[in-house]
Amino acid sequence: MSDYDQDRYRKVDQELVDQLKAFAFDRLVKIMEVCGTHTVAIHRFGIQRLLPESVKLVSGPGCPVCVTPDTFIDEAVFLAREGFLIATFGDMIRVPGTHSSLEKERAQGHDIKIVYSPLDALRVAETSKRDVVFLSVGFETTIPGIAVTVMQAKERGIDNFFLLTANRLIPPAMTALIQEDSQLNGFILPGHVSTVLGKTGYDFMEALNVPGVISGFEPVDIVSSIIVLLRLIRETKAQVVNNYKRAVRDEGNPKSQSLINTVFAETDAEWRGIGVIPKSGLQLREKYAGLDIRNKIEIKTEGGKRPSGCRCGDVLKGRIDPPECPLFGSKCTPDSPIGPCMVSSEGSCSAWYKYG
Ligand code: SF4
Repeated sequence: MSDYDQDRYRKVDQELVDQLKAFAFDRLVKIMEVCGTHTVAIHRFGIQRLLPESVKLVSGPGCPVCVTPDTFIDEAVFLAREGFLIATFGDMIRVPGTHSSLEKERAQGHDIKIVYSPLDALRVAETSKRDVVFLSVGFETTIPGIAVTVMQAKERGIDNFFLLTANRLIPPAMTALIQEDSQLNGFILPGHVSTVLGKTGYDFMEALNVPGVISGFEPVDIVSSIIVLLRLIRETKAQVVNNYKRAVRDEGNPKSQSLINTVFAETDAEWRGIGVIPKSGLQLREKYAGLDIRNKIEIKTEGGKRPSGCRCGDVLKGRIDPPECPLFGSKCTPDSPIGPCMVSSEGSCSAWYKYG
């Protein structure tokens, strides 16, 4: 994209702001931005302050760190203590489990290595004599890269590389939220995830009678997507509109979809603070089951106390805004986080704390 285009996409002109402010509903209209990157952009650019009074924007469950269950961290802590080398994305390090975190375990001398991609983790395994466990988290955007890594590990016979999986899928989570909360009137759909899913990946929304708009991440993308969404709501059209055509094709990315389906199978999965959602997680298919660390070793987790008062689950469901949590900004800050929504840079609590 040229500098001119970059600039064009950043600017929200007055005409657009006026269009947004002109919406008036005779009831409160609640819309949800699903994706953590949107949450950060909305707060960073003050977009919620442009909304008309009758429209409320709430954050959803699209922050992979936030929805990873604390028991997953407990499993990783167990493996670190058993002598496995843990390879993880950096933002998982500070996420609290029920009794420890990977950061605390690293301070105790256990081997926790930050990697920037699954292939990085595979390289670590290739150059190490230790058994390496990659913490496989993330949504549809991240999963194809993990699938490629798994296939390479298998093809090249790298037998000291394993996965501890907690990948999650966005459409089942949205379905669960819609079925649970009839107050959600529409969705700003995640741009990155949609590059893989495509517009057709949201066909289920029509049956649930809720509209959605796929959006990019620049301020003008988000504001124009909210306008399109509010129009759909006003006209009671339960459609999905692709407002991010420069990146998202209607059919998505069939190659990425095929990679995911080749390596992984759907399974029921727990989302932190939300509970178990049917077919919302992935497990390695039989051909690759040897790479699943849960098949190599019995993982015993101690269990422990969950942080009392943390309302991350309600934040992730869009039921409350972070400042409604009694710990927000006092006991829970980005420097001293209690829940994952404050740990992750894409977490809603963190975005509210940083940008208001
Ligand atoms: S402010 Fe902290 S304790 Fe409260 S919901 Fe957010 S992460 Fe949890």
